[in-house]
Amino acid sequence: MDPDTIRSPGTQHEIADALRSVRDAVAAAAGRAQRDPATVELVAVSKFHPVDAVRAAMAAGQRVFGENRVQEAAAKFAPLRAAGADVSLHIIGALQSNKARDAVRLADVIETLDRPRLADALAHAAEQEGRLPDLLVQVNVGDEPQKGGVATAEADAFVAAMQRRFGERLRGLMCIPPAEGDPAPHFLWLQACARRHGLATLSMGMSADFGTAIACGATHVRIGTAIFGQRSVEPVRAAPPPV
Ligand SMILES: *Cc1c(COP(=O)(O)O)cnc(C)c1O
Repeated sequence: MDPDTIRSPGTQHEIADALRSVRDAVAAAAGRAQRDPATVELVAVSKFHPVDAVRAAMAAGQRVFGENRVQEAAAKFAPLRAAGADVSLHIIGALQSNKARDAVRLADVIETLDRPRLADALAHAAEQEGRLPDLLVQVNVGDEPQKGGVATAEADAFVAAMQRRFGERLRGLMCIPPAEGDPAPHFLWLQACARRHGLATLSMGMSADFGTAIACGATHVRIGTAIFGQRSVEPVRAAPPPV
C-alpha cells in the first residue's frame, strides 16, 4: 500500500496538539509512578498514516517512530532519511524472515523477534548489511493463538538463547497484552522476565493502556491513535506466518 494515498485525519496543528497532550499524559503517568519522565520514551506509531503526518510530528519535536510493516516503513522513512531527517525507527509488527534484510537495513530497533528462524534470518542479514539494529523479544503474554510473540512457557529459554546469540544487541522485551481484561498482570510478568535476564528495555503500553504500562515499568510506550487519530484501515492483527 502506498502510504501517500492514505489521508491522515490529523492536520499539522492537530498532530502537534495531540503530541503535546500525549507527552503531558506520559509525564503525568511517570510522575504518579514516582518515575523520571525522561526514563519513558515515546514511540509515535505512524503506521497507515501518510508521510505528511510523520513530518508534522517531526516538526513538533518527535524523533522516534514505530511502523509495523517493513515496506510501508521504507516508503516513508527512507526518503526522509535521504533528506537528512534525524529519526529513529522501530519495527513493531510481525516480521517475515524474507523481510529481515530490509528491516535490518532500515530499522534502529526491531521489537518483534519471536522465533529461531527469524533470528537466523536477522543474523544472516546483519552479516550482509554490516549492521544489526537493537532487538527486543516479543512475548505473547496472553498466549493468544492469533498473536505473534514467543509463548510465555518458552520465553525464558528463548530470551537466554537470543542473548547468547546477539549479546548486547538484545536490549529487552515487548508485548501486546490481550485486548480484554486488566493488562497490569501481563505488564508485570514482562517486567519480571526482563529482570531475570538483566534486560533494561520494556516496550509496553499503547494509546489505551500506557498509564498502566508506565506504572509497571515501561521504558517505551508505543502510541498511534492518540497522536495521529484513527487509522483509516486497521492493520492486520493476525499472527505472523510461521516461517
Ligand atoms: C498499532 C500498534 C500500536 C499503537 O496502537 P494505538 O492503539 O494506535 O496507540 C502499538 N503497538 C503495536 C505493536 C501496534 O501494532
